[in-house]
Amino acid sequence: MAKYSFSLGKQANGDYWVHVDKSPCPALPNNSLPLGRFENSRRALQEAKKTQSAANGCKHCCPECHTK
Ligand SMILES: [Zn+2]
Repeated sequence: MAKYSFSLGKQANGDYWVHVDKSPCPALPNNSLPLGRFENSRRALQEAKKTQSAANGCKHCCPECHTK
């Protein structure tokens, strides 16, 4: 299980990115919200989408669930 955070800052295209905390992500902003612990980034993204429909995986630390 890894800890995930949700960025409160919008990306240029309007997405809100979900980040994994295990390695410092260069794209993780200071204004992020802890999401909790999940088995994988897809689960974390599902959780984030409950509150923010524009949630997306971070291109840098969660590329497996990043959609363009
Ligand atoms: Zn990231």
